[in-house]
Parts: sequence; C-alpha cells; structure tokens
Amino acid sequence: MNDVLPDEAEQRLWLEGVVADWFARYGYRHMRTPLLEHTALFRRAIGEATDIVEKEMYTFTDALNNESLTLRPEATASTVRAAIEHSLLYEGPRRLWYLGPMYRHERPQKGRFREFHQFGAEALGFAGPETDAELIVMCAALWKELGLEGIRLELNTIGSSEERARHRADLVRHLESYEAKLDADAKRRLHTNPLRVLDSKNARVQEVVASAPALMGYLGEASLAHFEDLQRLLAAAGVTFTVNAKLVRGLDYYNLTVFEWTSERLGAQGTVCGGGRYDGLFVQLGGKPAPGVGFAAGIERLLALLGDSGRAAPRRQPDAYLLHQGEGTLDYAFTLGEDLRAAGYAVVLHGGGGSFKSQMKKADASGAALALIVGEDELNAAAVSVKPLRDARPQQQVARAALAARLRDFLKGS
Ligand code: ATP
Ligand code: MG
Repeated sequence: MNDVLPDEAEQRLWLEGVVADWFARYGYRHMRTPLLEHTALFRRAIGEATDIVEKEMYTFTDALNNESLTLRPEATASTVRAAIEHSLLYEGPRRLWYLGPMYRHERPQKGRFREFHQFGAEALGFAGPETDAELIVMCAALWKELGLEGIRLELNTIGSSEERARHRADLVRHLESYEAKLDADAKRRLHTNPLRVLDSKNARVQEVVASAPALMGYLGEASLAHFEDLQRLLAAAGVTFTVNAKLVRGLDYYNLTVFEWTSERLGAQGTVCGGGRYDGLFVQLGGKPAPGVGFAAGIERLLALLGDSGRAAPRRQPDAYLLHQGEGTLDYAFTLGEDLRAAGYAVVLHGGGGSFKSQMKKADASGAALALIVGEDELNAAAVSVKPLRDARPQQQVARAALAARLRDFLKGS
C-alpha cells in the first residue's frame, strides 16, 4: 500500500476528472459503496475457487458484533448488492460508474499492489450485445483521449452456465486423462474451477489444454448470435480485437462476453482493464433476475502508461504569492488573500515571516505568476504592489479596492 505524494496525487486527480467527464458523455451515473462488506458477499459473487477469494482477501472478524468483514477486492459485487438493496432497477436499467481503492493481499511487484484503485462501469438491466459493445468502445475512446497507444483488446465468449456445464463435463474428462501432466494448481482447479485451468501459465499444462475440447463448440444459437453481434458493432466502430478462446477471467460471475485490454509496455502485469457480462449475478446475490455487464480498469497501470507516453496533468500554479512585512501588514495581507480567493484567484500567503528578500525567493520558487507585496507603504496607501515574476514587466502599485479586477490583466500579460 502506497502513499501518493503531491506530484502523483495531482496527476490522479486530473485523471479522475477526465474519467468523470468521459462517463458523463455516455450517460453513466456515479455511485459509491462502502470499502467494507460482509465477507459472504464476495464469496458468493466472485466464487470460492478463485484467486481473490482463496488467497487475496483482507478478511477479519469485527469483534464488536462477531461478523466476518472484508475490504472490497473489487466493486461489481458491491454495486449489484446495492442495486438489489435499493431497488435501483425498479424504474428500468441503469448505467453506473465508480472509482476508488480496492484491496487484495497479493505479492507486491511492479503494477501489482495491495491497495490499488479502479474505476469501472456497470450497465445493469441491459441484455443486448450493444451494451457490451458500448462499454468496449468507450474504453477505446478513453485510451485515445488519454493519448495511450498500443492497448490491445482480447475478446471471448464463455456462453451460458448450461453450455459451460456441458463443456465442463467433457473438459474435466479430458484433463483427468492427462492428470499426470497437470501441476498442483491445475489438479486442484480440475474439480473446483476447471475453466481456470485453461489460462494456466505452466507450459506442460498448456500442452494438455491445447488438445482440450473448446467451449466455442458447445455454444447454442443465442450465445453465438450475441457474440457475432458484438463483433459486428466493434468492427463498425473501428475497434480492432483478437478473439482469445483461452480468456476466461478470474471471477466466477461472468457469462457470454469477457474481454481484457492489455499493453505490452507494462511487462508481466499488462492488463489495464477487464470486464464482461454477468447475467446470473443478481439472482446469485438474492435479487430478481437482471442482466448486467461491466468492466474495471486499474488506475495505477494507466498512470504508468501515461507516464510513458500519454497526456500529463496540466499543473495549476498559484496566480500570486502574497508577501507582507512590517507592522500591521499581516492582517492586511491575510484579508486581502481571502478577498482575492473569493474572486477566483489562487493565492498563496507567505507564512513564517523572514526578510523581504527571503520572501521573494519563496515567491519565485512557488511557481506563482505574480508577487503581491504588502509593506508599510502599501498599507498606508491602501494599496498593493504587483510584481510579475516570470517576465521583465516593472512592479506597479495598485489600489487594494481595484486589485481583484486588475489582477486578470496582469495575469494575461504573464
Ligand atoms: P491480474 O491478472 O493482473 O491479476 P485481475 O484479472 O486480477 O488482474 P481484475 O480483477 O480484472 O484483475 O481487475 C481489473 C483491473 O484492475 C486489472 O486489469 C488491473 O489493471 C487492475 N488490478 C487488479 N489487481 C491489481 C493489483 N493488485 N494492483 C494494481 N492493479 C490491479
Ligand atoms: Mg489478480
């Protein structure tokens, strides 16, 4: 878990603003859920036999009421829980988005943290492939807006749970017949979550997987049509992708569409965004049946890419640094600063006294465009001296009452 220091925090704040504008353009509404949830929520939603639930959750017992609680490892479960709890779909489908910290007890490495941040969308109540396509196309638009290149899209369909069950039976039979070649992870998953054996990183396991029956062969007409429609819409929008039959994603709630956006520039932790459809999740969490589809993007990984090539946050420097020296000048400057801020200027008031010269040094280092100087002369004249710091324009005395209006011209000239 990391502290985020001002340079990076400002970059994040800027990115969050870009993200908020972008979501608004697609009609997604912001929502927030608590960082803590009952552990049972994630067990039910994400699935027992997943990396997250097996080994990545920060779970503890709240001793005050003896409940098992977990720091959220992701936000889809929470969003759907909230949608059920507040009957959010009562008046029709909803487009929602969130942003915030997530917690997973992982081995820390480049691009992998124990506290990390995601923004994500959940389109709830939409069954058609156009919504899957919308979510993917909007990601492509964001990468473009951020100036990020080389983020590739992989796409797959994992069908319905019935289709997966039929495939699963054959897959387990196939894997069992090669059990000697499987590693411990794959052997364990063989009976808990055999689909996850498909994305094993072990070469020997991959050999077995290569000859395994493909899920695509088990898909019915409706599933295939959904996938074809999605691909057609993506192609129409000019979004290129590769179909990766091994892409299954590490959470159990998905059906039909799954997708991942990956960059080769990030090394081993290359996935910046993942998502898919989860039409069974509402019922799984005790709600009325409702379809859903969404994605989550990792902010730290996007920031790493932005640092490489993309856009940077414009740095907002203070408009003015306010100096004061002499009897009575502090009170005068103190209220002047407030007047100017109320008029919309960014003003830093010098703190801690010091000589005029040392205050000027601070003014210069602050990045401010102007120094505003209040000495005893200015105090007596009910005025302020304005000194442009970034060019050779001369210092000028301005009546205090006129300063808020005049400052705009000084800033324009700088
Ligand atoms: P990975 O394969 O990298 O473990 P994941 O499949 O577990 O990713 P998701 O649960 O799909 O990831 O989360 C969506 C996105 O959140 C990821 O694509 C990634 O950008 C980001 N993310 C996930 N886990 C972490 C982490 N521990 N640290 C930083 N970012 C993360
Ligand atoms: Mg993971």
